[in-house]
Amino acid sequence: IGANLQRAVDAFPEREALVDVPSGRRWTYAELGADVERLALGLLARGVAKGDRVGIWAVNCAEWVLVQYATARIGAIMVNINPAYRAHELAYVLKQSGISVLVSSTGHKGTDYRELVRQVAGECPALRERVFIGEDSWDALVAAGDTVDRDRLTAREAELSCDDPINIQYTSGTTGFPKGATLSHHNILNNGFWVGETIAYTEEDRVCLPVPFYHCFGMVMGNLGATSHGACIVVPAPSFEPAATLRAVQDERCTSLYGVPTMFIAELNLPDFASYDLSSLRTGIMAGSPCPVEVMKRVVAEMHMAEVSICYGMTETSPVSLQTRRDDDLERRTGTVGRVLPHIEVKVVDPVTGVTLPRGEAGELCTRGYSVMLGYWEEPEKTAEAVDAGRWMHTGDLAVLREDGYAQIVGRIKDMIIRGGENIYPREIEEFLYAHPRIADVQVVGVPDEKYGEEVLACVILRDPEQGLTLDELRAYCKDRLAHYKVPSRLRILDSFPMTVSGKVRKIELREGYGE
Ligand code: ATP
Ligand code: MG
Repeated sequence: IGANLQRAVDAFPEREALVDVPSGRRWTYAELGADVERLALGLLARGVAKGDRVGIWAVNCAEWVLVQYATARIGAIMVNINPAYRAHELAYVLKQSGISVLVSSTGHKGTDYRELVRQVAGECPALRERVFIGEDSWDALVAAGDTVDRDRLTAREAELSCDDPINIQYTSGTTGFPKGATLSHHNILNNGFWVGETIAYTEEDRVCLPVPFYHCFGMVMGNLGATSHGACIVVPAPSFEPAATLRAVQDERCTSLYGVPTMFIAELNLPDFASYDLSSLRTGIMAGSPCPVEVMKRVVAEMHMAEVSICYGMTETSPVSLQTRRDDDLERRTGTVGRVLPHIEVKVVDPVTGVTLPRGEAGELCTRGYSVMLGYWEEPEKTAEAVDAGRWMHTGDLAVLREDGYAQIVGRIKDMIIRGGENIYPREIEEFLYAHPRIADVQVVGVPDEKYGEEVLACVILRDPEQGLTLDELRAYCKDRLAHYKVPSRLRILDSFPMTVSGKVRKIELREGYGE
């Protein structure tokens, strides 16, 4: 990763590499290269050895990017910590990965990170350095770099290998407790490169990143995707704000914009949406969860993103395996998650027998290639459950691989409902219920049932809570239009759904909360 960044520094020294919009700071590639090097030397000065864990617990900002490249240059393992974590989750990650140096924001939206770090520090014996971005401790770390001979960095770089662990990324925690995927330089740099290559980034591109850096969407598809092609990273705000995002696209003349579907929905729904000049956009990425067709159509038509790409991936595979292509038609761009990236293999297997299924049949998606993680950090049993002896990653997602090589995601195996021996895919029922005039949003989950094993529960957010919705009304709406066994037998009306920071609904909580 260090050598790859140096290539961009050498090729495009005067081009812009990084813009931190909230603070107005800007870096050319030459400046970024120099600041990364100074920080890398600073970490060496603090005794950070190859393989030591350096945690980053921060909202999006330029320093996040500096820490990402500086740790890579010295072969430290950067551990991304979810900015939404609170004391007990922070303590879990600090201990589980044995972090010795923690770099954090001072606070965000009313949460004082300094206070939380202080609370948990006593429980974390490995933690010996706490550095806060924007405070003296950060300046001191950077200044320490000036005391170290550059030869020490050269010597360290000579010890590094492309297959060394470089990063621990925790999964989103959509289906349970987050798992720490351990990734190498090769894993994530190649993946960022191919994602950028597929949307044809060059040094002319300017990539607006409202997605969290702590997640692979931001740090790999975003940061590495951009810098491996000499493109510029634009940080619109510390955390997602729809108006700040569109303003950054307009003012910074961004050519590319990333987001999970809910982010694009929020941007399109801004009351003053039409007043932003988005004409500089040509591409972007929508990923992370199923992308509703109607949203995609509006993104293409109203946000100038004719070449917008859908990606499918998971933290454990660096992340992206499948991606739509620039010249795909709307059917492929909306109806599929694309086709496999170069140097990656995919197959669809029977989830029970493991036998490879013919094209067109739904089964568990498996992927293999340079992108498969080294393993879950210090969890060999979990690793063995996910990655088999042939190095195939079992994704836990149900997919159909079509004749034309394009894949469709049917749902997660864990979310599949088995009612009286019938397999039910929640997504199909959700797509059907979205069209109900009184339903604003809906999630379908399976809940235990004595007679059928599992039953279908619809969790609904109403457009107008005053109007209400009864189970009988819902069932009448489904009758004759949905197979009887798919018709929800339970209904819960909610104000909101429990979400992960990466923007996904935690169905596990909907299931667990049902008993109450
Ligand atoms: P956890 O593994 O902790 O339960 P998670 O699987 O949500 O959480 P991530 O690694 O962030 O954590 O997300 C990967 C998952 O996101 C995939 O396994 C898949 O279920 C879903 N996903 C990713 N991209 C898409 C997409 N384009 N369409 C549908 N689902 C997607
Ligand atoms: Mg997962």
